[in-house]
Amino acid sequence: MSSHLRTLIGEALQNAERLLLVTHIRPDGDAIGSLLGLGLALIDAGKSVQMVLDDHVPLQFKHLTGSERIQSKIRDNFDLSIALDCSDRSRLGTFGQESLEWNINIDHHITNDGYAKINLIETEAVATAEIIATNLEGWGFKISNAVANALLMGILTDTIGFRTYNMRPDVLRLAAKLMDSGANLPELYARNVYQKPFEAVKMWGSGLSRLQRKDGIIWTILTNQDRKLAGYPGKDDADMINLLTAIEDAKISIVFVEQPNGKVKVSWRAVPGVDVSQVAAQFGGGGHPAAAGAELNGEIQNLSEIVLEKTYLHLKGKSKEF
Ligand code: 5GP
Ligand code: MN
Repeated sequence: MSSHLRTLIGEALQNAERLLLVTHIRPDGDAIGSLLGLGLALIDAGKSVQMVLDDHVPLQFKHLTGSERIQSKIRDNFDLSIALDCSDRSRLGTFGQESLEWNINIDHHITNDGYAKINLIETEAVATAEIIATNLEGWGFKISNAVANALLMGILTDTIGFRTYNMRPDVLRLAAKLMDSGANLPELYARNVYQKPFEAVKMWGSGLSRLQRKDGIIWTILTNQDRKLAGYPGKDDADMINLLTAIEDAKISIVFVEQPNGKVKVSWRAVPGVDVSQVAAQFGGGGHPAAAGAELNGEIQNLSEIVLEKTYLHLKGKSKEF
């Protein structure tokens, strides 16, 4: 099934002249890595490519070759549209409108709803960048230094440096191959996995000061005020969620982040055996069993109580396994 889809995608990529590539809002490393990895390989093959997302490119990804070519608007016509790492249309921001048809959807989210004509959804893959890296040469494209760097960055960030529970030996072999093609693992690891801006760590301080634990769930809240006090420029949690997953007792970790637009971004992480994508889906979000997110409307304290209750009920349903 999947191999037929891969062949179809290879043919579509080869036959197209003008391609539109889009990834999700609030882009993470896999979103940017997939966009650049596939985009730059198509450009190297002489195609006209628009790499687009309805958001800014976060500062920590601007060191990547080609990141300056990513745009926030569709400027030209195209004959093939491809969505990357996007589980549903809402993740595409303004490009999620029904009038825009998607030819190809390449993703690894279990919650992907298959909104394109060709949907290559491989939930075993640790990153969308892994799917692209595995197939690029088979599709007839070359893996340059810049392409290898972008794709390895996507894999590294979605696996938090090769340490998530979905890691497979094949991923390490693929990473080695990307290093052979010129990817700089130590530099990517430093810039995109463990180094953080001073302001990010300062904001963590606010979150850590109100850390809470109950029945295997560890959570905290980050407010607009925390962000302002720390001088943190992003709207995200500055990866604070990874800090919470390092706590031994955490079966589920949650960070609630107040947004300047009045919404609240929720991030869940879970140990194997717990599927937080199901909890996120109850709130209109999605993701993976081990890592999921949603964006909600409402007051943060109030919302956090509702979300905690639902999360607790989900965990309780699994309690026989612990
Ligand atoms: P994070 O908590 O790091 O933002 O996201 C964790 C995972 O959940 C990622 O794989 C991300 O793609 C997915 N995710 C995060 N927020 C949303 C959302 O609002 N909707 C959907 N469908 N998925 C999300
Ligand atoms: Mn991803």
